[in-house]
Amino acid sequence: MKFARVALDVPINRLFDYRTDTATDANVGSIVLVPFGKKIAVGVVMEMANASTLPSARLRGLLDVMGDVPCLPTDVLAILQFCSDYYRHPIGEVVLNALPTRLRRRNAIKPQRQTWRLTISGMQLDPESLPVRAKTQRDLVSHLRLSGDGIDAIALRRQFPRAGAVLRDYLRRGLIELVAAAPAPISHRILPGPALNDAQQTAVEAVRPTFGRFAPFLLHGITGSGKTEVYLELIASALLEKQQTLLLVPEINLTPQLETRIQSRFPDTPIVRLNSALSESERLQNWLDAQSGRAGIVLGTRLALFTPLPNLGLIIVDEEHDPSFKQSDGLRYSARDIALLRAKQRSVPIVLGSATPALETFHQALGGRYAMLTLAHRPNAAPPVIETVDVRGETLIDGLSQTTLHAIKETRRRGQQTLVYINRRGYAPVLICPGCNWTSGCPRCSVKLVVHLKSDLMRCHHCGHQEIIPVRCPQCGNAALAPLGQGTQRIESALARIFPAARILRIDRDTTRKKDAWNRMRRQIHDGEVDILVGTQLLAKGHDFPALTLVCVINADASLYSTDFRASERLFANLMQVSGRAGRADQPGSVLIQTEFPQHPLYAALKRQDYAEFAKAILDERKQAGLPPYAHQAILRAEALSIDMAIGFLRKAARCTSAAVSGVTVFDPVPAYMARLAGKERAQLTVQSRSRGVLHKFISDWEPKLEKLADPKVRWALDIDPLDS
Ligand code: ADP
Ligand code: ZN
Ligand code: ZN
Repeated sequence: MKFARVALDVPINRLFDYRTDTATDANVGSIVLVPFGKKIAVGVVMEMANASTLPSARLRGLLDVMGDVPCLPTDVLAILQFCSDYYRHPIGEVVLNALPTRLRRRNAIKPQRQTWRLTISGMQLDPESLPVRAKTQRDLVSHLRLSGDGIDAIALRRQFPRAGAVLRDYLRRGLIELVAAAPAPISHRILPGPALNDAQQTAVEAVRPTFGRFAPFLLHGITGSGKTEVYLELIASALLEKQQTLLLVPEINLTPQLETRIQSRFPDTPIVRLNSALSESERLQNWLDAQSGRAGIVLGTRLALFTPLPNLGLIIVDEEHDPSFKQSDGLRYSARDIALLRAKQRSVPIVLGSATPALETFHQALGGRYAMLTLAHRPNAAPPVIETVDVRGETLIDGLSQTTLHAIKETRRRGQQTLVYINRRGYAPVLICPGCNWTSGCPRCSVKLVVHLKSDLMRCHHCGHQEIIPVRCPQCGNAALAPLGQGTQRIESALARIFPAARILRIDRDTTRKKDAWNRMRRQIHDGEVDILVGTQLLAKGHDFPALTLVCVINADASLYSTDFRASERLFANLMQVSGRAGRADQPGSVLIQTEFPQHPLYAALKRQDYAEFAKAILDERKQAGLPPYAHQAILRAEALSIDMAIGFLRKAARCTSAAVSGVTVFDPVPAYMARLAGKERAQLTVQSRSRGVLHKFISDWEPKLEKLADPKVRWALDIDPLDS
């Protein structure tokens, strides 16, 4: 008899032993059904053992082993175990969360990929002969006729959500058939891209010889400098070696554009997407394609990191500085850091690409631990000209200066597009009473309620609380309440007033909430149906709008003097990114930044578009202050009904830190940056060390003691290598 040590989706950091006569060592990584309490649970076998620490009479038996092959290979199990240990998160939750939801079900069935195609009699169908009203039918038939080998069933459902009845009808009439998907091609077709310039060629030639061993690279190149072309060339090399590429992108950047661009370069190669927006069945199907080796390229957000990839040959992390690579709850992992670990473990090269690398990454590259590859020029466009607009002493019209308005007017006159960038949605960030200084605070959070005039509401962007905009001041009864500051809605309506003939499109979370809205808007912009875009961060990334030649930045100053030591790093990255939107094709772009601090060094470096200079200056400051990347941090976060309870818990936690570990600084507990969120008071305690190893040892000692402190009224969590302070 053997014992299976099983990970279960429970918030306790341990494995559970079960007796088994059927499972063998080959079942490590298999999904199993086990009795758990009065229920049946789905788990994953982490280890097989010949003995258990528990008396075998008390052990129950495995109920079932699913599938003939282990679902998670040992390399993925090892990474998951590392994440559990390093980020201090229960192993079962880590492992089960790495599986597609479908596989976590008791009656999981693995679907076969299927393809719709026309039968011989179906080929006789002429779309032109179908009634004009039957648009779905006509489109469907022309689509199937063009496709030759047929169309993947899941993709077809996504493309034609209303075609269900037609498909059933055609199937019944023998016009179409459902067949098993064609296997992956034996050889990949690789279509040529543009001839690489010298810098791109140098980058490719630096990475190529490292296939088959661990080698980390930083590909530093401004937006439009051709990083993606370098990726494509490297992916081609991997495909020639019959190896898979894992390409990680930030949440927000996962646009169909990139997928289309890759697919058109490798027309026969199965490319699968893995991100949270997929349906359950599509996610499972894509995951299985990665796991079986069928998918040559896996394009995904951070969650794709844990996908089994038997032939992994290359990892690319695009926009590696993006904060969305760090998960902010549950398993608080950094996908970039774990991608590096995975590359090391699998002996493959990893390319981190960015216009504004994370300072952690840049620091590694400066120290020679990552090879630095630089693309300094845009192959097919001039860099934008970045200028500041001094707004001191100027009377602004709804936040817009005369210089800005004049530039928008000129751009319109030339028939080109303008983007007005303001990183705040809604009408105004707060409502105030000029009589008594009352402001619209969220009753549940320590932030202001944002005025949304369109819906006549004030909303909290953190907890979702909303109320109707009051007619009179709740404090003094004054009826002259005023929205203070600007948001996208206010800029939109100001522009509509000033340029009544302009076609204005607002792009923020409120206008893109509906499925497909963003795709539609992107087409409108592309087709020149828009003159002025007003948008937030959403617009800043990875979209190529050829007619966009002017970018105006409003209200960037707010982040200049923030208490968060990472604020300026982020501001610089955002502004570089949004500047990169201007003038990509044959039109030079221009960027105007409204500011009251035109001399600020951040803006000076930005005008020169000199990331390296900026980064070195900030790194110097961080070194002086002993901050990351010169130190490693962990934050113990606590949440309770009163701030005293939260701080009290952290004080107790601080007292039980181990005196045996030297080289760790334990700071005083303080209220969190957002001290109140959704009705909970929050506090935090930072611990820090120059050595990652020392800090990890310290945390390993500390965490079990925190478990013992357990106070049911306080919720706490450790955040290792935190990005939010
Ligand atoms: P990035 O990923 O750095 O933003 P891209 O790879 O998307 O840059 O390149 C920006 C634009 O320049 C794209 O339209 C791309 O096709 C084009 N491009 C890239 N490299 C070259 C090259 N060597 N020759 C001509 N055009 C290029
Ligand atoms: Zn008042
Ligand atoms: Zn709130």
